[in-house]
Amino acid sequence: MGMVQTEYRKSGAPPAGKATFDAVVVGAGFSGLYMLHSLRDRLGLRVRVFEAGNGVGGTWYWNRYPGCRCDSDSYIYCYTFDRHLLQEWEWSERYPEQDEILRYLEHCADRFDLKPDIQFGTRVNAATFDEKTNHWEVRTDKGDVVNAKYLIAAVGSLSATNVPNFKGLESFKGKWYHTSQWPHDGVDFTNKRVAVIGTGATAVQAIPEIAQQAKHLTVFQRTPNFCVPARNGKVDAEVTKARKADYDGVVDRIKSSFFGFELYFMPKSVLETTPEEREREFDRMWDEGGFAFWLANYKDMFFDKKANDVIADYLKRKIRSTVKDPEVAEKLIPKTYAYGTKRQPLDTNYFETFNKSNVALVDAEADGPIEEMTPTGIRAGGKEHAVDIIVIATGFDALTGPLKNLGIRGRGGQSLAQKWEDGPETYLGLAMAGFPNLFTITGPQSPSVLSNMPVSIEQHVEWITDCIDHMRRNKLSTIEATPQAQQLWVAHVAEIVNTTLMPTANSWYMGANIAGKPRQFMPYLGPEGVGGYRKKCDEVAAKGYEGFVLS
Ligand SMILES: Cc1cc2nc3c(=O)[nH]c(=O)nc-3n(C[C@H](O)[C@H](O)[C@H](O)COP(=O)(O)OP(=O)(O)OC[C@H]3O[C@@H](n4cnc5c(N)ncnc54)[C@H](O)[C@@H]3O)c2cc1C
Repeated sequence: MGMVQTEYRKSGAPPAGKATFDAVVVGAGFSGLYMLHSLRDRLGLRVRVFEAGNGVGGTWYWNRYPGCRCDSDSYIYCYTFDRHLLQEWEWSERYPEQDEILRYLEHCADRFDLKPDIQFGTRVNAATFDEKTNHWEVRTDKGDVVNAKYLIAAVGSLSATNVPNFKGLESFKGKWYHTSQWPHDGVDFTNKRVAVIGTGATAVQAIPEIAQQAKHLTVFQRTPNFCVPARNGKVDAEVTKARKADYDGVVDRIKSSFFGFELYFMPKSVLETTPEEREREFDRMWDEGGFAFWLANYKDMFFDKKANDVIADYLKRKIRSTVKDPEVAEKLIPKTYAYGTKRQPLDTNYFETFNKSNVALVDAEADGPIEEMTPTGIRAGGKEHAVDIIVIATGFDALTGPLKNLGIRGRGGQSLAQKWEDGPETYLGLAMAGFPNLFTITGPQSPSVLSNMPVSIEQHVEWITDCIDHMRRNKLSTIEATPQAQQLWVAHVAEIVNTTLMPTANSWYMGANIAGKPRQFMPYLGPEGVGGYRKKCDEVAAKGYEGFVLS
């Protein structure tokens, strides 16, 4: 990509106050950084990025809890658009820690000179489409009012923190922290009695780390999780060398794969195997660690409850054989949903942690749910648990939360948040009818959180860039999804996922973790996954942006 210097960049700081830009991008994580680079340096646009945090990185800026790391293999949890960057960057581990991923994104921001166009510490709280000028007016909590032809929400799928409405939380005299708003100078658990609320992917990473430091740890569990070992560690130098030599092949494969990984379902039903044969395969995937057990298992795992039960049984046996107290083991075994229908947590000594004498488990089902916070702890099932620190690991208002928080108003002043009261409606997870020139990166009804996200992010950024390029070349002023195309897409997303077991779980994919959130499966689980979805988006563009009105 050639570097095009925009005028204001040559002269130093970007214009302040009510400026006009070609595009406003909200968010400076993986998505926003690449979007800025792509629009500014490929198309030569004037771009302003607003970012609520005081630095780049998004997820990796905010989530700094102990044990925080990615669950995608590092060699594919990165940008692939720049082959030099791919060759030069060295990851230290299979799953690098938060600070290393943040360092990587900082490096990318500096390498492509992105920071001068990002306004940090600034939250967008309103964006209104002006039908007279065909521009978006964007307002921030710092009083900025700017206009832009295009508005691109790079706000992340997992960036709206979910703190459940715990009765009495304000009365708690100790300290409490949500894992996604972790203090930058860390939290010292030494000699402290600590509570962790939640047992999702974040908690599964944090619990073993906190248990090593704290005097006592009480884990409050609402729903147990099937965990699989991460098997983190240094990557063999020869493996890294081979991957670097074959990065073109790697990139092609992940782009056309189902989930954006080099993982493929076995072309066989588990029900057609002998117990010995499948046990061998399960052991192999278990030993390999990572997402193989989840995303490269027998082909009927996500479709057939009988097949799923056979696979889940292996994981249940693992829990029973790891956790020494049979009563605790039973509490840790999921019983109410099919394996794989909730986000797969990867663990390092998670179940083993419950064998430690300083760790206790309070299960909502067996022991009673959290009733309230008191000045000195947490009351659950009628019993008070005295703690000094509460760690809230209850995740996010996923996918729709950050978009609804933007205060978007489209044609006729209609509010996106209100329009989505009964669930999101998008075309391709990229655009919405009634909201011209607005694009969402990894929006609902795109593969987003059901993929290795950098792959999906790059696809959206490149599609949006090509689309804006097309608009400019053809002197077009608006692009907008048609209600018909949107309706068909929403129906297609639902039809596909309803052939799977996914909607049967109370997962955050279904919005079930947020009180009052409509129950709707939000990511797109297309028949050919990420690869098929990419083809579909490319076809739409090739047919002159089929399903959109361009004017
Ligand atoms: C703990 C954790 C582990 C993860 N591990 C993996 C993994 O292993 N593999 C994987 O594929 N994905 C993983 N993810 C998902 C991860 O979010 C994505 O991989 C990726 O980082 C998303 O990048 P993004 O730029 O789209 O969004 P984000 O990184 O969430 O960045 C969005 C940014 O937008 C900003 N923003 C939002 N709203 C506003 C507003 N109104 N005004 C101004 N700024 C705003 C936020 O402050 C944030 O910085 C993980 C997520 C979490 C939370």
